[in-house]
Amino acid sequence: MRIPEEVILDIKYKNPIEDVISPYVALKRSGSKNLKGLCPFHSERTPSFTVYPESNSYYCFGCGAGGDAVTFIKNIENLDYIEALKFLANRAGVTIPENRYDDSIIKLKQRLYEVNKETAKFYYENLFKPSGKWVLDYFKSRGLKTETITHFGLGAALGEWDSLIKHLKSLGFKIDEMLQAGVIAKSSKGTYYDRFRNRSMFPIMDLQKHVIGFSGRCKPGEEKNGGKYVNTNDTLIYKKSHNLFGMNFAKGNCKDGIVLVEGNMDVISLHQAGITNAVAALGTSFTEEQARLIARYTDLITLVMDSDEAGIKATNRAIGILSALGIKTKVVNVPSGKDPDEFIKLNGGDAFKKLIENASGDTDYMLFKLSKDYNLEIAAEKISFLNKAAEYLSGLNDSLAIDYYAGMLSDKYGIQKSTLLLKINEYKGKNKNKAKKEAIRNIINPKINRAYVNPYKNRNNRICNSEELILNILMKHPEVIDYNGLDENVFISEIAKRIYLSIKKLYSKNTMFDIALIESEYTNEEIGYITGIFVNNSNNVQNFKELIKDAVDALKEESLNLNDKDINNMDNSDWERYMQNIIDKKVNKDG
Ligand SMILES: [Zn+2]
Repeated sequence: MRIPEEVILDIKYKNPIEDVISPYVALKRSGSKNLKGLCPFHSERTPSFTVYPESNSYYCFGCGAGGDAVTFIKNIENLDYIEALKFLANRAGVTIPENRYDDSIIKLKQRLYEVNKETAKFYYENLFKPSGKWVLDYFKSRGLKTETITHFGLGAALGEWDSLIKHLKSLGFKIDEMLQAGVIAKSSKGTYYDRFRNRSMFPIMDLQKHVIGFSGRCKPGEEKNGGKYVNTNDTLIYKKSHNLFGMNFAKGNCKDGIVLVEGNMDVISLHQAGITNAVAALGTSFTEEQARLIARYTDLITLVMDSDEAGIKATNRAIGILSALGIKTKVVNVPSGKDPDEFIKLNGGDAFKKLIENASGDTDYMLFKLSKDYNLEIAAEKISFLNKAAEYLSGLNDSLAIDYYAGMLSDKYGIQKSTLLLKINEYKGKNKNKAKKEAIRNIINPKINRAYVNPYKNRNNRICNSEELILNILMKHPEVIDYNGLDENVFISEIAKRIYLSIKKLYSKNTMFDIALIESEYTNEEIGYITGIFVNNSNNVQNFKELIKDAVDALKEESLNLNDKDINNMDNSDWERYMQNIIDKKVNKDG
């Protein structure tokens, strides 16, 4: 069963593309019709993410992501097609007729949320049982107030192997649902057991405040048996690398940015001390997805990391990821190498707020870290350091900042500021060449490239250009579908053939072409490819019938080339194309 087309279109047109996208991407006018912003799907500094209000679509010239409001919500909210439609329907107040579509996945997700919610409740209630008292005592010993424990929904997993299973069974949940939620596990003998035992429990919530997973800390003193922390593995509703502990609370309190700390316990004690914009990565190193999640709410992050070697590495990594997304970073070094949690206990929350206010920018931090690699007493090493520093500063986009730091280094290390600036400019020139080369490479071979969706793109651009031109005209001029000599056999690449057939099917029902109507038949990358063709502006051309004729002729000629050329007489590029054709056909048939 599926949602009727008129409902899909109704949902789509009650959700203007710019309104849907603007909460996630800062959009600026570009020309008279379109809008531009930094792509939320790949890292970039200059906007190539374009929104087309006229055709209700978007396309990124950097990475090839594209589609309509449904595609966008699917990707940015991590939803499937039906969920994205529901999300948009809800946003615009459209009612989707019930029971017309397959919603088994949505129902399963709903059940998994329920399992997690009831599990969290169960753990919480355990705190007040005699066998769970040690956990409550532990939380109190860490300085947590009762209201903090309730606010975060903390709890206790007891020692038995099946207390949670029994409890959830009594509430009517099936073993399979518990397994899929990740709260129980299956032994090699085929029996089931509670995944978390003898642990203090921290529920993980998504932005809508559903409990989606757990992080369990072992009893103090038992760190060696079975790991200090056990976390829920990825499930249908939980992806470790896409979530941040505390983000559900922090997202509403981040007008001064987000504070990133290492552990769940740090997050909780910071919140208790009034620093309610603190979050932590969930037992993983900081990921690009997590950075994107933060970038939706703020462009400033304060990193509070341990000052051991692992912490420094993690900090450098995070700065790299964040600055690539255009997020400003500051770094806090907690004095005398303490955890934020310990520091607050000793000095109070206000002292920690001061640390955040006075945090140095990432440039100070990077220069400081860089200086640690050299023995600055030795002239040769000092020169190497200043060279490295100049190279680093040449990458900054802010000329005022460059001037400031050149001055600072000149004062500190007794070198002429002008000499340093000269060196920085030298590096800047090199960077520019590098950036140019990179840009060219990206055009030839974009990251989620067209070649990936259409393997012909790199092999034979002539074929692809002709195909794309025909499809573009077809999308906008339904009458062309009846053009004599145009059928699916004209198309050489498999994806073009599929798109042609989709368009033909729509027209046979007297429906106009609309990405929303074919959305569910293609992958996200393919929808990006289709949108790239769709937003191309050749619809202004008057003589499109002639263009179609040329393109169809070109394709027919190419396809003769591919089939009939004597293999012995092929040159290398023909041979490659011929082989690729065979491979493509095989791949498309097999997969
Ligand atoms: Zn992009």
